[in-house]
Amino acid sequence: MTDRSRPESPVDPHECPPDLAGALLWGQRRLAGSGVDNPGLDAALLLGRATGTERARLYLEPRRLLDRGERERFGALLTRRAAREPVQYILRRQEFMGLEFEVDERVLIPRPETEILVETALELLRGRAGSAAVADLGTGSGAIAVSIACLHSPARVWAVDLSPPTLEVAAANAARHGVRDRIEFRQGDLLAPLAGQCFSLVACNPPYVGADEIGLLQPEVHRFEPRLALVPPARGEARPDPLHFYRRLAAEVPGCLEPGGWLVVEVGAGQAPAVQRLLAGTFAVERAVRDYGGHVRVLAARPRGHGRAAGG
Ligand code: GLN
Repeated sequence: MTDRSRPESPVDPHECPPDLAGALLWGQRRLAGSGVDNPGLDAALLLGRATGTERARLYLEPRRLLDRGERERFGALLTRRAAREPVQYILRRQEFMGLEFEVDERVLIPRPETEILVETALELLRGRAGSAAVADLGTGSGAIAVSIACLHSPARVWAVDLSPPTLEVAAANAARHGVRDRIEFRQGDLLAPLAGQCFSLVACNPPYVGADEIGLLQPEVHRFEPRLALVPPARGEARPDPLHFYRRLAAEVPGCLEPGGWLVVEVGAGQAPAVQRLLAGTFAVERAVRDYGGHVRVLAARPRGHGRAAGG
């Protein structure tokens, strides 16, 4: 038996120690043995869910005994996490911009890096007078669209996704945060369902992972998250091009921006120079914002020609 076979075997709840402190340590060791990155944190989150206890309380009542149902629930949750299912899918939630989003396998889990895109968009929108029309292309869980609607009340938002099941999650998140009436959801390919409309800002976190890179990412990502949200489509025989969507945005977005309007995109680590070159034909890139790892992660650009005149 190699170590790799262990994550697949279910966690036996009969082995769970009787009290919270023991169960926590046991769960942590089990997850660490399966290669999970933050085994202590994840064991606490799952034990909290299994016992209906807030995470902080787990440490206040270390000798509290678990009943049989709690041990079984904890074992079942640990089994999923040990198989490297993301803890966010197991708990069905992820925090983003201080808001709680419901997530499941229909959507990409919102990343902290994408908060930089939202913060950049909010800053650009606040620099404009009056109301704003915002498009979020490839909305996924709705993280970008919903947080812009929540945090910038003059904005009306159009959120597009190719996948109908994904749009259901996004619409539920909009309803959860009370902005369902300020977001229009449209199914389709990039700007296709928004034909004839003009926007003050177009936001997009497109799939940008190369087909040969996906296997190198954590099992949580490549085994569980939707490939449609990560890897651009393959074209015939050719390998999928990680920059595919930036080429399309460079060509298609200028025609749908109001004067002074912005395109704001997230890019993969190391992709910024290539994306900047791609955009340069039609856009002037005016901002490049780094993430906490020092990579340029967000580019904000205005079309050449009519951009600068309108301020913002
Ligand atoms: N940042 C994500 C990841 O690498 C990818 C998101 C995307 O393709 N837009 O896990």
